[in-house]
Amino acid sequence: MSIHLSERKQIQTVLASENGERVLIAGFLKRKRVLGKKLVFGIIQDNSEEIQAVFSVSDIGQENLETIAGLPLQSVCAVEGTIQKNADRTKKPEMLVLAFEVLSASEPQLPIDLGPGTESAMDLRLNWRFLDLRDERQRTIMLMLSDFERFSRDFFYREGLREIHSPKIMGTASESGAEVFTVNYFDARAFLAQSPQFYKQMAIASGFDRVFEIAPAYRAEKSYTNRHLTEFVSLDVELGYIEDVEEVMAFEERWIVEVLGRLKERWDSNVERLFGFEISVPTLPFPRIRMEEAIEKVNRSGLNVSAGGDLPSEGEKRLGQLIAEEHHHPFVFVTHFPFSVRPFYHHKADPRTSSSYDLLWNGVEITTGAQREHNYEILKRQLAEKGMKEEPLSDYLNFFRFGCPPHGGFGLGTARFMMSLLRLENIREAVLLTRDPKRVTP
Ligand code: ATP
Ligand code: MG
Repeated sequence: MSIHLSERKQIQTVLASENGERVLIAGFLKRKRVLGKKLVFGIIQDNSEEIQAVFSVSDIGQENLETIAGLPLQSVCAVEGTIQKNADRTKKPEMLVLAFEVLSASEPQLPIDLGPGTESAMDLRLNWRFLDLRDERQRTIMLMLSDFERFSRDFFYREGLREIHSPKIMGTASESGAEVFTVNYFDARAFLAQSPQFYKQMAIASGFDRVFEIAPAYRAEKSYTNRHLTEFVSLDVELGYIEDVEEVMAFEERWIVEVLGRLKERWDSNVERLFGFEISVPTLPFPRIRMEEAIEKVNRSGLNVSAGGDLPSEGEKRLGQLIAEEHHHPFVFVTHFPFSVRPFYHHKADPRTSSSYDLLWNGVEITTGAQREHNYEILKRQLAEKGMKEEPLSDYLNFFRFGCPPHGGFGLGTARFMMSLLRLENIREAVLLTRDPKRVTP
């Protein structure tokens, strides 16, 4: 009996098939139990689900039974058989195996443990990330990340945004000039983009009303934390013809509520089983607090963060807790940041305050957003105020010389989002592969 992989069905589909139906599945041999010389129970797992396959000597013969009994876990096999529904409807169907083929055998000794409560340290797991991702919990994070992007795209297109792809190699260091990677570019130097900031604003100046981009961003930050990577995927939105920054926040919170709703619908039962909680969809509108007030509140609670500046991460954490107690809401927009801690291109609400915000989720920053300054003369004044020169930014400044719609937007790290959503300890679990100051492999 030969196996035709083109007939393969996903295990999730197979679990719903009729009693007695003959089907072909393929996947990794996740666990097995050998009962004497007559019976082997094997759990086969593919990208969608797992199923118990019953290999019995009467159906497959002695030689085949010995093969499956001796096969190392994680080997890849194709298995054909009939579906046996359990009389107890709460139990999953099994498969009675009629034929199987080993497509690719695993070495018997795995370099890491898989499964819940793995003893393997993060660093070792990251060295063997392709195996680590065979663990259902790890793979679920990636599948949900993919849905997060898909649902976001759906929302953005429906709202009239267009997707752009801006270059990641740049001739001038964007924004601050700090924390950029330098690359050899033939006989010259170039830089890796820290964010698509300037280019998404260019798109607005080019006449695309509203745009978004989901693409890598690079930060040469030496900080080795649980929430910073040197390469991360940034989701950026820029909206033209806005009235004020409030419109940007209103857009962002609507997007988050929709995406969380859809993620809950699709993934809640898996999240409950693998992560131990339910996804909660927040109510609209999200609480908002001015930076001044946020600092006061945090200081009143016993922390001592200096006024007039940014909130350090322990201040963000505390603010998140205080807002959760007061408003029973996991999100908070911190608004009215002092212009002194914001980049020159943020629009000013008044001489000392920028029209900008951070969005915190459970006390962790996931977004910075702002209205941008689109008036050429004011923009040049703000640049001077920051002690910066015009010349290196002349390409950027040109965007504002020939008419540019008022606009604003935000940037969000997709891994930060997943980390907050799934309450992960480490952002490294929310990216396919990690790039940090100590790791550029595998
Ligand atoms: P943080 O204060 O957390 O270091 P930031 O203010 O430097 O972040 P922004 O320049 O505002 O970051 O970038 C916008 C968003 O991109 C952040 O809110 C975060 O979600 C994400 N982000 C920024 N830096 C990193 C990083 N090194 N690794 C992963 N995500 C990042
Ligand atoms: Mg920020």
